[in-house]
Amino acid sequence: AAKSQGRGNFQFFSAAMNVATHERLMLENRLWLALEQHEFELYLQPQVRLADQAIIGAEALLRWHHPELGLVGPDRFIPIAEESGLILPLGEWVLQQAATLLASWRARGLGHLRLAVNLSARQCHGAGLLPQLDRLLAEHGLDPALLELEITESAAMQDPERSRKLLRELRARGCKVAIDDFGTGYSSLSYLKLFEIDRIKIDRGFVKDIESDPNDAVIVAATIALAHSLGLSVVAEGVETAAQRDFLRAKQCEEGQGYLFARPMPAVQFEALLAAPAEQAG
Ligand code: C2E
Ligand code: MG
Ligand code: MG
Ligand code: MG
Repeated sequence: AAKSQGRGNFQFFSAAMNVATHERLMLENRLWLALEQHEFELYLQPQVRLADQAIIGAEALLRWHHPELGLVGPDRFIPIAEESGLILPLGEWVLQQAATLLASWRARGLGHLRLAVNLSARQCHGAGLLPQLDRLLAEHGLDPALLELEITESAAMQDPERSRKLLRELRARGCKVAIDDFGTGYSSLSYLKLFEIDRIKIDRGFVKDIESDPNDAVIVAATIALAHSLGLSVVAEGVETAAQRDFLRAKQCEEGQGYLFARPMPAVQFEALLAAPAEQAG
């Protein structure tokens, strides 16, 4: 019985794997064309100041309009892009879009808004990022402080020495640097010692259970206090409830991002939201 069961399991897994492999191949084949066909779009998720819920900026989150699958989220294609190398041209496209957005905001009296962009590991460790950034900042005459670059601990720790230099170079240009998904890596504290940064983003995984898990509440409160004593500011990710917001606010967390405030949305919608009279959540 054990043997036949094992066999059944094997067939089950191999069928599931074929589906996964098939999807992966399908996405990978199409991915290279997608950039040329303008199938990518930057969605924007507002970042709010917790004290008064004013929108102070946004995070740019990549979306793919796949001709058959519809809207595909980055968790499904960023890893493939990263492995296949497409992440380099894609990452350049993202930065270029971000610079264009910042320039258009300034032209329309929205010059106070900050835009955060995610960097991939390959982008951080390649040679193209800084020259591209210099070109974009100069070309659009941007205030570098309005461009924030987010890097995850795991990406940075792939080559700590190189990352240390990169982050220093980014900050030397006046750009802001944030650690994304803070607390999910294995080296959060060494990261704080090694790297010069401006902000940490507390991972959604800790924020989620603030109300139900006393350990998470303690970890979040201590992380905020630690960041502040190091002179860093804090953004909380994945804020979904008023109770989470109130907790974070009470702990002096500066900013929040999450479904409570708004979901990621197309740029035109984000701009419409800014024009609309402020609506009180909670
Ligand atoms: P991330 O940078 O940590 O982005 C935050 C993710 O949390 C986003 O998922 C966002 O939609 C989601 N989120 C925000 N608020 C809430 C909430 O209240 N509840 C829940 N459940 N989720 C929330 P998304 O857009 O699917 O992006 C996933 C990841 O893909 C990002 O995580 C980032 O690591 C990566 N990514 C997105 N855009 C880019 C990009 O342009 N370049 C690179 N290299 N990576 C990107
Ligand atoms: Mg991010
Ligand atoms: Mg994150
Ligand atoms: Mg993430």
